[in-house]
Amino acid sequence: MNDSIYYQCQRCTNCCRWPGFVKVGEEEIAAIARFLGLDDDNFIQRYTRLRPQRDGLALIDKPNGECFFLEGRDCVLQSVKPLQCAGFPNTWNFPGWREVCEAVPELRPVA
Ligand code: SF4
Repeated sequence: MNDSIYYQCQRCTNCCRWPGFVKVGEEEIAAIARFLGLDDDNFIQRYTRLRPQRDGLALIDKPNGECFFLEGRDCVLQSVKPLQCAGFPNTWNFPGWREVCEAVPELRPVA
């Protein structure tokens, strides 16, 4: 059996502070809106913006550039957070990510 490297998140929240766009698709919008007790349109109006390529929506940021839903070191949306957040850094990452992310590499067997 082969092993592969899996990066275990240490909840440093640095990726939530990194400049960029957190994509949200239709199902994610529905889940987050329900979690916040809003209807989808209301959530979209209040908490999303158009992505630069105009090909969908992203969460808004705070004025300091961090994700709007980061509170201290916690994600308000933890139980319904977008796939993009849940996948980082294992399913995607960005150039230079290792310098900002505190995730710890571990070997995991490949199924
Ligand atoms: S939704 Fe949560 S995990 Fe994703 S960037 Fe915002 S605070 Fe971080």
